[in-house]
Amino acid sequence: MDSLAAIVADIAAEMAAAPDRGAVADYIPPLATVPLSHFGMAVVEADGTCHVAGDADQTFSIQSISKVFALTLALGAVGDQLWRRVGREPSGSAFNSIVQLETERGVPRNPFINAGAIVVSDMLLAGYAPREAIGEILRFVRALANDDAIFIDEAVALAEAGSGFRNIALANYIRAFGNLHHPVERTLGVYFHQCALAMTCRQLAHAGRYLMAGGINPATGRSVVSAQRARRINAVMMTCGHYDGSGEFAYRVGLPGKSGVGGGILAIAPGKASIAVWSPGLNARGNSQLGTLALERLVQRTGWSVFDPD
Ligand code: GLU
Repeated sequence: MDSLAAIVADIAAEMAAAPDRGAVADYIPPLATVPLSHFGMAVVEADGTCHVAGDADQTFSIQSISKVFALTLALGAVGDQLWRRVGREPSGSAFNSIVQLETERGVPRNPFINAGAIVVSDMLLAGYAPREAIGEILRFVRALANDDAIFIDEAVALAEAGSGFRNIALANYIRAFGNLHHPVERTLGVYFHQCALAMTCRQLAHAGRYLMAGGINPATGRSVVSAQRARRINAVMMTCGHYDGSGEFAYRVGLPGKSGVGGGILAIAPGKASIAVWSPGLNARGNSQLGTLALERLVQRTGWSVFDPD
């Protein structure tokens, strides 16, 4: 096998020349103006070696990738009771769909669709003012990445609040079933701010290391979650991390992964690497077009798919 450094550099060069780059999410105004030309990639190996290429040090809006960190925090706060209020089955529906909520009585299919993440935000709000809950999330992500430069882009959070009619509808609908315990505006305030976390690929790949390393943050040697919980979060990422494109992502890439409409993807090769890719153009399912292609090429060349024999 070529060296990992060479593979990452090759993939970035291929992506720079790729003609079909997808389309940026335009329903959140600040995301609509991000140039399609961007591509960044960071791969942190188990021993901490980090390989980067392209725009790996440029910040982008991590959007729904934050749902992984919020789920981790909420599981720590409320434990497995969380699963009474949110399911863990793939939805087969779009990220912002409302249809299943009626028949499933306000219990969202999984924590990685918007409805489920809004319920998780509501859990993180218990006992806190919104500003404190947002601060907890930011502190957690900074600690995971060991980088205090990570910030929340207030302009993105504000834009989402101004254009988030579907999320407002979802939250009200869930509240009608009694599965939101706080006022809708407060819960959504937490949700929009977590989605507005701005990170680089390098920071994101570092933040994901605990999921590669059985729940331990290798940077500190401290346990973030138990090994069992890390394995289970990875399982939910594999089955639900790409909305109604989760099956396709498993087929093409074969790694637990979580995408965001900012064009980022966090992917975990358990025991091997934590990987972040970013390219703002999305495919029809709202997942990064080139990010997915880059990860597909990476697993082809490294044999890192969880379905590859070791
Ligand atoms: N903040 C976005 C929304 O709620 C997140 C969607 C995503 O990244 O998939 O619409």
